[in-house]
Amino acid sequence: MKTDVLILGAGLAGLSTAHHLLGLGVRSRLVVEAKPTVGGVAGSVTKNGFTFDYTGHLLHLHDPYGKGYVLDLLKGNLAVHERRAAIFSKGVMTRYPFQANTKGLPLGVVVDCVAGFLETVHRPSGPSKRGDFLSWCRAAFGDGITRHFMRPYNEKLWQTSLARMTTEWQGRFVPKPSATEVLYGALADQNKRFGYNASFRYPVRGGIQALPDALARRLEPGVVRTGARVTAVDLRWKVAQVAGLGEVRYERLVNTLPLTTFLDLAGPLPDAVRQARGRLRWNAVWNLNLGVARPVVGDRHWVYFPEKKFPFYRVGFSSNFSSAAAPAGHSALYVEVARPGGARVDTAKLEVSILDGLREAGILKKRDEISTMAWMPIPVGYVVYDFARTPAVNAILRHLAKLGAQSIGRYGGWKYSFMEETLLDGKRCAERLAGVASARPAAAGGELQPLA
Ligand SMILES: Cc1cc2nc3c(=O)[nH]c(=O)nc-3n(C[C@H](O)[C@H](O)[C@H](O)COP(=O)(O)OP(=O)(O)OC[C@H]3O[C@@H](n4cnc5c(N)ncnc54)[C@H](O)[C@@H]3O)c2cc1C
Repeated sequence: MKTDVLILGAGLAGLSTAHHLLGLGVRSRLVVEAKPTVGGVAGSVTKNGFTFDYTGHLLHLHDPYGKGYVLDLLKGNLAVHERRAAIFSKGVMTRYPFQANTKGLPLGVVVDCVAGFLETVHRPSGPSKRGDFLSWCRAAFGDGITRHFMRPYNEKLWQTSLARMTTEWQGRFVPKPSATEVLYGALADQNKRFGYNASFRYPVRGGIQALPDALARRLEPGVVRTGARVTAVDLRWKVAQVAGLGEVRYERLVNTLPLTTFLDLAGPLPDAVRQARGRLRWNAVWNLNLGVARPVVGDRHWVYFPEKKFPFYRVGFSSNFSSAAAPAGHSALYVEVARPGGARVDTAKLEVSILDGLREAGILKKRDEISTMAWMPIPVGYVVYDFARTPAVNAILRHLAKLGAQSIGRYGGWKYSFMEETLLDGKRCAERLAGVASARPAAAGGELQPLA
C-alpha cells in the first residue's frame, strides 16, 4: 500500500491533519488507528446506558479559527456552561481557584495564605520563570498557598517534585489573582471568572466522542483505517508496518502517538535521540468512571482534592455537563488518580480506596448503589515538564523533521495542551505539508503559535 502522507493515530490531531489536508487539496493520505474507534483520549465509551469520557473533556475555545471550527463540527449539539468548580480540603469545600477563595477554611489556614501572599507583594523581584515551579509558586503565591494547595495538589497530579519541574507549562493553566482578590476571597464569597476555563462548551449528546466522530464524517471513506496498529516504522526507507494492512509506503509522515511509543517502534535512531527519549517523563491517569443510582450527586462540575488522604486529585460530575451521560434517575461521575508513567497499579485495591474517599468527602452516600463501573486508564496522561523535557523534545523533533516526519498533538508534540490546540496543531501541520506555511517543525514549548 502507498500514500503520500501517512498519519499515525486518529485522535483529534490526526483527524484534524487529514481534514485540513483535504481542504488544501492533498487527497493522498491515510490515517491508521489501533483502536476500533476514532478520537483517542477525546473519545467516549458507552456502558449500561452511561456515556463516559476519559475523565472530563470540556471544550475551551479561545482561538477564533478553532472556535469556528468546533462550532461548525458540533452544530446544534453544544451547550455552554459556567464553570462550577471547587476544592475540598480540611473538610471544607471552597471555590476554585484556591488562591483567590480561602473563605471558609480554618482561620489559621486563611491567615497563612493571605499573609504569605501579601509578603510576596512587597518583594523587590517577582517570580522567576527560569527557576523551578516550587520556587515560582512560593514567589507568586507565598508560602501558605503553596503549602496548603499548590504543592500538594500539583505533586499529586504530576507525580513529581515541584522542585524538579519548570514553569514553562503553567502560563494559561494557573490563575494569578491580585492582592485585592486574595484578600476579598478570604473575607467573602468571590464569584469571579478566573482562569482559562471559566466557561466551557460540551456536547449535549454523545459525550466528547461527538467531536472526533463529526470530524471523521468530513473525511472521504477509506482515509481512516481503524483496528490498524502501527508496529514498526522505518524512517530511512519510509515504510510502516501496520496490522491488517501490511507494509505502507509513504512520502511524508505525521506522528500523533505518544512520542515515547513512536520512538520505541521507529528506527533507525541515533544514540543522541534514543538518549533524549530516555529522558522523557510522564504520568498515567487512572480514570474510574461510576454510574450511581441517584438523580443528582452534587451540583458542581468538578472538585479538586489536594490532600494525601484522598487517592484522587479530581472528581468530576459528567451528568452536570450533559444529562445524556446517564440514564434517567442516575448520575455519571469520574475519578482521576495519577501515578508515575509505566508504574503498575492494583486497580482492585485502588477501587476500594476511591470508594472510601468518595464516602469520606460526602460525594457518595453509604446507601448509594453503584450500578456501573468502568476503568478507562490513560497510560500517557500528562507530560512532565522537568528540566530535561524541552531540550530532549527539541532534539527529537529536529531529528524527525530531517527525515520528513512531523510529530504533533498533545502526545506527539509531548506537551500540555487541550483539544482546541490539538485541532490547531493538525491545521498547522497540514499547512506545512501543503507548503502554505513555514516548514518549521512544531515547537516543543507547547504554546499556541500564531496561525499563518
Ligand atoms: C486527564 C485528561 C483530561 C483532559 N481534559 C481536557 C479538557 O477538559 N479539555 C480539553 O480541551 N482537553 C483536555 N485534555 C486534552 C485532550 O485529551 C488532548 O489535547 C487531545 O485529546 C489529544 O489528542 P491527540 O490526537 O494529540 O492524542 P490522542 O488522543 O492520544 O491520539 C493518538 C491516537 O493514536 C492511537 N495510537 C496509539 N498507538 C497506536 C499505534 N501503535 N498504532 C496506531 N494508532 C495508535 C491512539 O489510540 C489514539 O487514538 C485532557 C487530557 C487528559 C489526559
